[in-house]
This record gives sequence, structure tokens and C-alpha cells, in this order.
Amino acid sequence: MNHQLVWFRNDLRILDNPALFHASNSAKPVIAIYIATPEQWLSHDDAPAKIDFWRRNLAVLKESLAELNISLHFFEVDGYHHIPNLIVSICQQWQISELHFNQEYPINEQHRDQAVSTACHQISIPCLDHHDQLLLAPKSVRTKAGEPFKVFTPFAKQAKLQLPHSFDLLPPPVKQQNMQVTQLADEKELHQLSWPNIDQSIQILWPAGEEVATDNLIQFCQSNAIHNYKTSRDIPFIRGTSFISPYLASGVISIKQCWLATKQYCESSDGVVIWQNELLWREFYKHVLIDNPHISKHKPWKGHTKAIPWRNDETELNAWQQGRTGYPIIDAAMKQLLTCGWMHNRLRMITAMFLSKHLLIDWRLGERWFMQHLIDGDLAANNGGWQWCASTGVDAVPYFRLFNPITQSQRFDPQGKFIRHFLPELNSLTNKEIHFPKDHRPASYPPAIIDLAYGRERALTAFKNLASPH
Ligand SMILES: Cc1cc2nc3c(=O)[nH]c(=O)nc-3n(C[C@H](O)[C@H](O)[C@H](O)COP(=O)(O)OP(=O)(O)OC[C@H]3O[C@@H](n4cnc5c(N)ncnc54)[C@H](O)[C@@H]3O)c2cc1C
Repeated sequence: MNHQLVWFRNDLRILDNPALFHASNSAKPVIAIYIATPEQWLSHDDAPAKIDFWRRNLAVLKESLAELNISLHFFEVDGYHHIPNLIVSICQQWQISELHFNQEYPINEQHRDQAVSTACHQISIPCLDHHDQLLLAPKSVRTKAGEPFKVFTPFAKQAKLQLPHSFDLLPPPVKQQNMQVTQLADEKELHQLSWPNIDQSIQILWPAGEEVATDNLIQFCQSNAIHNYKTSRDIPFIRGTSFISPYLASGVISIKQCWLATKQYCESSDGVVIWQNELLWREFYKHVLIDNPHISKHKPWKGHTKAIPWRNDETELNAWQQGRTGYPIIDAAMKQLLTCGWMHNRLRMITAMFLSKHLLIDWRLGERWFMQHLIDGDLAANNGGWQWCASTGVDAVPYFRLFNPITQSQRFDPQGKFIRHFLPELNSLTNKEIHFPKDHRPASYPPAIIDLAYGRERALTAFKNLASPH
């Protein structure tokens, strides 16, 4: 057996990539593969914007690997169940001695990887899975009683204690000897895989590549943006956050690079600590997903909330999805999602709470819509965010703390700059009126689909009526 095989998935980079690093550290030459799974993407609600982002990043990755004389080969199967046979066949044809990949934590990916390991074991090829997506290894952050944490703040405190002062990032592989790799019969070119067509404006907003991601990160950490983060992160009209989420979600940059950047490129400040905490929220939700596989199966973390009489009103759901609720901040946010493939965090919270509380529509429908449109869609973060807002999740917002979209709008978009950008039909309204137009609501803008006080009371009653969790 002559070669090492690296299977790229959600880790589309060469720097600090454990699978690539360890494969290339052996004396044997490395070959790389990527397997497209369009049916699985559909069943996981992966957004076309995100899938297209993978395509663009794979093109960059292929070039970077080629400079190291590592060839990246593309395959396509419908779903995960075809992958074990495909990999066995690849390993046999290319005389592979070891398969390397980085771990993924949602349940279908875990099952896929177990099946691949079993199939490879049967032909005596070891599978080496590497810990990559987290700062701290799965199941390594525990309470004194050895239990998973159920509350973010003590989790973050413990995680900080366990984090090393600094990380050594894994370097890209050294350039290997040029070699000819036999073309396999079922191999495809990148452009022949089943990619969706997406709006070019989204591609321009989110350029691909490791270099872009690293530059964005360094710029964020070197500028005042990170120090001002405490206040600017809540203002959707300004560039107050890092915009790194699509790159992290697709592994174009590693979480260790992000953490390290806060030590390398800036002095500590309140802003820096709060930004690090956001990275730890990401970490928390991934650990929660690993410890609670049931949340990969559309189940609430708090089992007793299953009894909430969620309303599945299609007309109202559709109005929310399309940004036609009559509440400007909600509608502008939903337009941002549709046109940019991304939404500001504050707005994700306001829109998610409006759907799950004021409209009392099942949070899973909102979670799905977000996943179908977000370029940074990530099961753990999206599910965590939705269950936080719907008060069904781990360390969720108390059910009686509802964000009022009008007051949130007045507070975080006081002059309506964000609203005016995404809803130009409201441009002529004053700063006072723009948050909820009463007298001068343009004919083209819909009336409010719900009275907020009524929606609030209905949600409070639904939660109060739940049997106690204990
Ligand atoms: C309902 C809802 C759904 C969400 N869905 C996703 C999702 O699918 N993918 C996703 O990456 N984030 C999701 N988030 C979290 C957050 O909104 C985004 O990570 C953030 O808006 C991305 O922008 P940024 O990179 O500029 O973030 P920054 O503010 O610069 O934060 C840096 C990084 O920290 C992480 N982070 C920040 N806030 C959170 C958070 N609340 N939970 C988990 N990680 C966080 C992200 O990786 C982010 O890129 C969701 C939040 C809510 C309330």
C-alpha cells in the first residue's frame, strides 16, 4: 500500500488541518478526495448559497493543494449510504494505506463515518479521524460531577481554564514529489458535480478562500472593530461583527486560528473578551450536540416543551419567511437573509422569537427556513439559537422574556437605517414612524399580521400551561 488518502468534508483549508497534516507527516504521498452528496444536502436543508460556497472554496483548495503536488479528486453519490463502498473502491484502486478525515458531530455524519471505518477495517485499511472543529475535544469539558454542562457561563469558565495559553497551528504540508495519480472511472471534474445556481450578488458578498478568511479575521482583530464589539455587535446597520461565520461553518478557517488571533493581533479589552465568549457559545452548542444526539433529530432539548401547542399557520409562516409581517425590523431582517444568505445575530434573535413566541409557530419550521438560506448554516449553532429563542433549549431565554420587535428596532436601529436599506418602500417615513408605521403606512407595505400584546399573552399561556419538567 503506497498512499495516504485525505477525505475533505467541512474543513476546506490547508492551514491547521489535522487530517491533512497527519496524512502528510507520514513518508507516503498524499492524495485528496471530496465527495458531493446532493440528496443528503437536500435532506439536511443545506442552503444553495452554502453549497455554492463549498464549490468556490473547493476550487481554491484544489489550486492550493496542486502547488503542494497533492491532487484533489471529486466524486458524487446521492447519499451517505453509498460512501463506504465508494471509499473502499478508491482505496483499492489507489493502493491506500491509511484514510484520514476530521471528525463531524451531527448524528448522520457520525453514522456515515462509522460505516466507512467498518468498511475500511474489512480491507485492513485504518481510518484515522482527527479532532478539528472544537477548541476542546468532545466530552472533555465536564462539571465537577463529571457531567456535561447545561449552562453556558460555567461551561465557558471551565473551558477557559482548560484552554492552553496558546495553540500551535498545524502548518500546511511540505511540497511533495510530483506524482501521477490514475484517473478513476467514477471520478468527475469539480464543475460536473450537482451544484445549485445562485445569485451572483451573494458570491460577491462572500468571496471564497482561506486567504480571504484569514485576512478578514486579522483585519477584524487589528482594527477597532473587536474593541468596539461590546456595543457595535448589536447594531445591524454597521459592520460591527467579524462576518467570519461562513468561513468557520465550512472549515475554511479553523476555530483555533480565530482564538489565537485574539491573542496575536490585539491587546485584551472588554470587546475582545466578549468576542471570545461568542466563540465559546459556538463551542458550547457543539458540545451540547455531541452530548445530546436527540437534538440532531428535531427534538427539543427540554423534553416537556414537546407539549406546546405550536401553530402551523402557513399564511403567517409564509409572511414571516418572505418579510411581509408588517413589522419593519422583522421584514428587513428576513430580506437580509433572502438577499445576502446571512442575517445579523441580533436580528436572528428578534425574528426567531417573533416566529416562535408572538406567532407561536413551531420553531423547527423557522430553524429549517434559516438552514435553507444561511451561508453559515450550522446544525449546532442554528439549533442552539432557535431553541434558545423558543425557550425549549439548553440554557434558553426564560419563556416570559419576549423581545418586542418595535422596541428592539427603536433601540438597535434608531434611525431606521437598516430598515430603509432593505425596505426602500418605507424610506419616506420619519425616524419615529419607521419602527411601526401607523398613519403613513405605504399601500405596498402589509398591515401587521399580529397584535403583539395578543401574541405575547398567547405564548405566555402556552408555556404556563406546560406540566413542570420535573
Ligand atoms: C436563531 C439563530 C440561529 C443561528 N444560526 C446560526 C448558524 O446556522 N450558524 C452560525 O454560525 N451561527 C448561527 N447563529 C449564531 C450567530 O447569529 C452567528 O454566528 C453570527 O451572527 C455570525 O456572524 P459573525 O461571524 O459576524 O459573528 P461574530 O459576532 O463576529 O462572532 C464570531 C463567531 O462566533 C460564533 N458565534 C457568535 N454568536 C454565536 C451564537 N449565538 N451561537 C453560536 N455561535 C456563535 C460564530 O461562529 C461567529 O462567526 C444563530 C443565532 C440565532 C439566534
